[in-house]
Amino acid sequence: MKKTLIITSAVVGAIVIVCGLFIFIGYQKFMSIDAVEYDPELEILFGGGGNSIILTAEDGLTAFVVDTKMGSAAKAMRKKVKVKGILVINTHAHQDHIGGNGLYPDAKLIAGAYTKEQWESGAGKSRYPDETIKPGEEKILRIGSEIVHIRNMGNAHTSNDVVVYLEKRKLLVTGDIVFLNKHPVLFAKSGCKVASWVNVLDSLYNRYDIKALVPGHGDVSDKNALISMRDYFTDIRDAVGDASKLAVLKKKYKAYSSVPGMSSFEKTIAFIKNEQGNK
Ligand SMILES: [Zn+2]
Repeated sequence: MKKTLIITSAVVGAIVIVCGLFIFIGYQKFMSIDAVEYDPELEILFGGGGNSIILTAEDGLTAFVVDTKMGSAAKAMRKKVKVKGILVINTHAHQDHIGGNGLYPDAKLIAGAYTKEQWESGAGKSRYPDETIKPGEEKILRIGSEIVHIRNMGNAHTSNDVVVYLEKRKLLVTGDIVFLNKHPVLFAKSGCKVASWVNVLDSLYNRYDIKALVPGHGDVSDKNALISMRDYFTDIRDAVGDASKLAVLKKKYKAYSSVPGMSSFEKTIAFIKNEQGNK
């Protein structure tokens, strides 16, 4: 009896260690940054939380930062921004995109029009924006020779998702409106609504002339990433309640990865089912 107990404890201990190792490796992977020089003025930083960009004006006096990552990745990113005049945009109030805001105390901070309560529930103690943009509003400014559009798309991944469009480069930064080849994170408390998210994806496709697209998570893509994200939602929405259709979709999306502990095919089904039930 005692021997069985010792063996059982050893097996449980080994499982805990292996699971811990998997979570640790997943977290390390999530936190690593991959920096790509898109052109001399534009750097794209993948991972370390959400994707970010740093656009520096040709005169080297102003930098425009979209999303500030989190933890050690946020600090590594901050070291790359060497100019004094910094403008920071947050695509949305989730910690993996705004965790480094505090490292830019003198920068002007712009984000969607979250109430302070909404901001704190997703972004914790991170500084509330100096300027907010309401759903449907667009702010246009210049960074060097680039014309930057900052637009609040309204309700999608959260209640106030902001996108950034670099007009001359025809490059769209979507924040978490696009998870590329990944199951998206869906939090009801952030105001996530799949039904309006689908409309936002269509609207972005029609509004901007897109050559390159930087998603919130995943590699650089093009406008087809908007279609893939929309199809993912409409596929699942139309199959909810039909086990055989869902089994086919599970195969279709089996190459999609998950954000550790936060997203999966099953979590998307449950979210959409719940949203449909609450109509
Ligand atoms: Zn997010």
